[in-house]
Amino acid sequence: MSNKVCVIGAGASGIFAAISARQQGADVFILERNQKIGKKILATGNGRCNFTNVDATDNNYNHPYFVKSVFEQFGPEQTIKYFESLGILPKVEDEGKAYPYSEQASSIVEVLLYELNRLDIPIIYDSFVEELSIKNNDYIIKTTNKQYNADKVILTTGGKALPKSGSDGNGYQIAKKLGHKITPIFPSLVKLNLDYPYLKQMDGVKVKAKAQLVHNEKVIHEEFGDVLFTKYGISGPTILQISRTANQLLLEGQKIYIRVILINDLEIYELVKRFKNLGAKPIEMALVGLIPRKLIHPILKEANIHNYQLNTASLSGKALKRVLDVLYNWQFLIIDSKGYDEAQVTAGGVDLDLVDQMTLESKVHKGLYFAGEILDIDALCGGYNLQWAWSSGYIAGKYAGK
Ligand SMILES: Cc1cc2nc3c(=O)[nH]c(=O)nc-3n(C[C@H](O)[C@H](O)[C@H](O)COP(=O)(O)OP(=O)(O)OC[C@H]3O[C@@H](n4cnc5c(N)ncnc54)[C@H](O)[C@@H]3O)c2cc1C
Repeated sequence: MSNKVCVIGAGASGIFAAISARQQGADVFILERNQKIGKKILATGNGRCNFTNVDATDNNYNHPYFVKSVFEQFGPEQTIKYFESLGILPKVEDEGKAYPYSEQASSIVEVLLYELNRLDIPIIYDSFVEELSIKNNDYIIKTTNKQYNADKVILTTGGKALPKSGSDGNGYQIAKKLGHKITPIFPSLVKLNLDYPYLKQMDGVKVKAKAQLVHNEKVIHEEFGDVLFTKYGISGPTILQISRTANQLLLEGQKIYIRVILINDLEIYELVKRFKNLGAKPIEMALVGLIPRKLIHPILKEANIHNYQLNTASLSGKALKRVLDVLYNWQFLIIDSKGYDEAQVTAGGVDLDLVDQMTLESKVHKGLYFAGEILDIDALCGGYNLQWAWSSGYIAGKYAGK
């Protein structure tokens, strides 16, 4: 008797789930609301697709125990091997990040589409699944204009990040209606909005700095690298990494700050010496050559110095200390983030308590499986989120396909 498996959503996890279920001999079909597969994959890694991280382990994720049992069956090594078999030569860059050698995310989508066709897996486009129900051990899948039946269903509708890609969080409702709990969700890997009066003047300035997330005067996350000031707040790779913890605390109603340390490789005494040597110059000129021009007036205003022409030597010790304080400890109140429209990933999702960690089958309904971002699994930037999508998709497909 044939085993009919319906995969809902042709993103990274859905594509792998379909391929792997087919490899088990199942009769698989995919329902996808868009007119093409892998729309979000095309946007990943700035169009280059950081498709995995060669050093990824379960410890890179919010629920390591759960990821561990999936990675032990199909981890980054197997993923890279499988992609190589499809023709994707990996190019490994800093911190283990792997990209296709062609540096085109479209290569990944192209080889996957070729493979789906080669395995004769029908992809039914323009099929938005509105409802999923179960009758006599049979799954009934209702799309906007049709109805399908299947023995098993793999729900791979993604999270809520970048909703224009097709994953707008509707899958959580499908899971919820079938008795699954959804843990609180919030955007992650996203730019942050600040409450700060001089942002307009700072817009577009990029610095290499230390960025610290401060809560109750304690540093709870620290990153070093590019920090970008914008007219609404702050961005850059450092900030994206910090944004998960920041958004979680905001969700809990906590007051949090981002501290930017502009000077990292000069001791205070060296700067004091610099200000002494340049004593005859206006204070704003004593900062030129040290920090980007557009930051000088905001820094002086923050230090409560409004006459930028004051001779550096005439500054009181207290005023000079205030300038140094800003250079080594500039704090901004975080009020919000840019939200799902600009987030790379959704934190939270289908509660893992009701999902089998070995097979990814629902503990509520036999024959229902989950994979990818819809589950309460996420990680920071670096190829980890796609790796989870591939691994979980492969495992859900493997068991559903048996
Ligand atoms: C801008 C950006 C850059 C990123 N860069 C990287 C990166 O470089 N490396 C990395 O590891 N991760 C990256 N990510 C994260 C990564 O892309 C996701 O975690 C991953 O794609 C999730 O895969 P998924 O299969 O779970 O969901 P998705 O890829 O979101 O796929 C879900 C699919 O389901 C379809 N769908 C949804 N609802 C329905 C429905 N009701 N009926 C039918 N179809 C439906 C959607 O149209 C979509 O095709 C990035 C994300 C973004 C937004």
